[in-house]
Amino acid sequence: MTVTAHTLGYPRIGAQRELKKAQEGYWQGEVSADALEATARELRARHWNDQKQAGLEFVTVGDFAFYDHVLNITALIGAVPARFEHKAGTAVDLDTYFRMARGRAPSGKPAAACGMTKFFGTNYHYMVPELEDGQTFSLSSTRLFDEVQEALDLGHNVKVSLIGPVTYLWLARATGKASRLDYLDQLVALYGEVLAKLKAQGVEWVQLDEPLLVQEVPAEWAQAVQKAYTALKGKGPRILLATYFGAVQQSAKWVSELPVDGVHLDLVFGKGQDADYLNAWPQDKVLSLGVIDGRNIWRKDTKAAAAALEKAHKALGDRLWVAGSSSLLHTPVDLSFETDLPDYLAPWLAFARQKLDEIALVSRLVDGSASDADKAAAEDAAKAVADRAASTIVHRTHVADRLKAVKDSDYDRQHPYAERAKAQRARFNLPLLPTTTIGSFPQTQEIRAARRQFKRGELDQAGYEEQMKAQIADAVKRQEEYGIDVLVHGEAERNDMVEYFGEQLDGFAFTRNGWVQSYGSRCVKPPIIFGDVERPQPMTVRWSQYAQSLTDKPMKGMLTGPVTVLQWSFVRDDQPREVTCRQIALALRDEVVDLEKAGIGIIQIDEPAVREGLPLQRSAWDAYLEWAVGCFRLSAAGVQDETQIHTHMCYSEFNDIIESIAALDADVITIETSRSHMVLLEAFRSFEYPNEIGPGVYDIHSPNIPSVEAIVDLLDKAAQYIPVERLWVNPDCGLKTRRWEEVDPALHNMVAAARQLRARY
Ligand code: GLN
Ligand code: ZN
Repeated sequence: MTVTAHTLGYPRIGAQRELKKAQEGYWQGEVSADALEATARELRARHWNDQKQAGLEFVTVGDFAFYDHVLNITALIGAVPARFEHKAGTAVDLDTYFRMARGRAPSGKPAAACGMTKFFGTNYHYMVPELEDGQTFSLSSTRLFDEVQEALDLGHNVKVSLIGPVTYLWLARATGKASRLDYLDQLVALYGEVLAKLKAQGVEWVQLDEPLLVQEVPAEWAQAVQKAYTALKGKGPRILLATYFGAVQQSAKWVSELPVDGVHLDLVFGKGQDADYLNAWPQDKVLSLGVIDGRNIWRKDTKAAAAALEKAHKALGDRLWVAGSSSLLHTPVDLSFETDLPDYLAPWLAFARQKLDEIALVSRLVDGSASDADKAAAEDAAKAVADRAASTIVHRTHVADRLKAVKDSDYDRQHPYAERAKAQRARFNLPLLPTTTIGSFPQTQEIRAARRQFKRGELDQAGYEEQMKAQIADAVKRQEEYGIDVLVHGEAERNDMVEYFGEQLDGFAFTRNGWVQSYGSRCVKPPIIFGDVERPQPMTVRWSQYAQSLTDKPMKGMLTGPVTVLQWSFVRDDQPREVTCRQIALALRDEVVDLEKAGIGIIQIDEPAVREGLPLQRSAWDAYLEWAVGCFRLSAAGVQDETQIHTHMCYSEFNDIIESIAALDADVITIETSRSHMVLLEAFRSFEYPNEIGPGVYDIHSPNIPSVEAIVDLLDKAAQYIPVERLWVNPDCGLKTRRWEEVDPALHNMVAAARQLRARY
């Protein structure tokens, strides 16, 4: 009995980021619309071909997007916010689409772009749909149908994939009086039209993604799913309802009674949930099981994966489908472009293209159609996975031993904050409302050029260091001129706040081309944490020491925290994330202690990613926060009372995690607040947050120079929430994206504002 292999989706950017180049060229007026469309067509054809070659039953159509697949639905249904002046009932053209995404496009009036936010806890950002009172939907784009035709013309068997109507609403923001679910009937009616058209084109299966079902949604949202799919039944092709990024929160019985033709379950993030389904799965429905990790880069033991599916195959026969856990959108495209990886590492990895092969191979192993070559490939994969499991490059006993030897007291500073604060006050003797910045200063052309030359070998180590030192000296001089109290060295030597540390730690590897779409044309290339993490030698000490030697003011040491390093990397799957994070924490702890030894009295450990690490399921928050907070404390607690630990976070929703923020026990926390007009300090006030806080006094995302009055005003506001003795004065975040012409007057004004207030209090 044949098992069907398919993919929920595939990366759209191209193995060489071809889409990025075409998009950005188009925005700059250097690439014509026709050329952009041609690149897109080529990429789709190539990706479908990859899927067919791999041996999948279908190619997946509908996962391509010029910016974002959620925005694609917005265009499809014509839900264009009024400010873009789109005429209802007409087609949403390419430039209107781009204006929604970016605020401007080669044609059409600029307007504020739609909001953007992370897609279900991934690093993929979608454009938030805006539903305005009186909003009506109508079919406003033929793109989807054109792409289906394109695939059919190429001779492919097509499965269409779209965000489902309920998840679309879940991700949306209702801007008026109506609530999101008020739009359900209308939206479902339009999906009905879409499905009918797809059926007329000859499409047999449509996959509708409803990942909201893995979250603990209010009952009316689960009911909305029942209602929507009842209304869509029979309107078009057969429907595969896809869930991913966790186990479905409703019961298996509830799921089995949905009026759809199949359901996809994520067995990577919702491990073992299939056990609830196999016994009583309806005879007329398909069950698709996601066994290949759609969000990580590890090669799968396909032999073991197939063996684990035997039970499902017995129960389901040819109603069993096999896929990746989620769309492969969240993985890099093609491992075969990685020519520089260490020899041992490459055989342990699989990117999207390799994952297609894995999916197809598992399906053939399960249904018995595997050839001898297939069996050999599976043996090979099993061996690679076994090699990794046994590798002494991965598993370093002394790292594990050290972790085991960690004591409870290693998580605690010597004394509580109140006592530390006394020691620190005596040591630093800072004025009321001390001023500081978050770490980075403008990454100028000059700095970037030096780094490029150094990487290419055109500039030697000594020449590079000299240039970086000149940058540091310049930054110190400027800060002294502004009159800042606690200085930073400016981070000129860092390309990226995670990569910089990963490059110096054992257990990390870097790809040449392992790009993953973050939003629009922006891609990230996360490091791969493949082995036990260790710090062979100090990473930042000599830079900080040099910077300190130039000034009598305290120089802040600057580190990226363990949770952020973890969160922005591909993490090993052979041990809990928490264990990897503690290893990173220990490596950072050594650095913190070494900085202290070198005379650096104030050390900042940035943790901008703590909040985005929160699990999708609320029930899992506590466990996560417990170890995340623990890891930060482990990294910070090795120092004396007199050493002041700062942390920085650049998100602004603190209400629901304020307790954990306080539990970090940083002496000082600097946060993004200026855009909220300090109102979010309310969370700190009502929690009676005990330590010092630097609420950002100006928005570094904007090129505008904040006036002295504006900053004074914000600080006065802040003082209504936090006792002024515990307030610091600093920008919202690092300044690396700004120019010196902006930074100079802004920081000058910031210091002037602090001085004005000191005179007053
Ligand atoms: N220290 C870093 C910087 O200033 C912090 C960056 C961040 O918060 N994302 O650039
Ligand atoms: Zn920040």
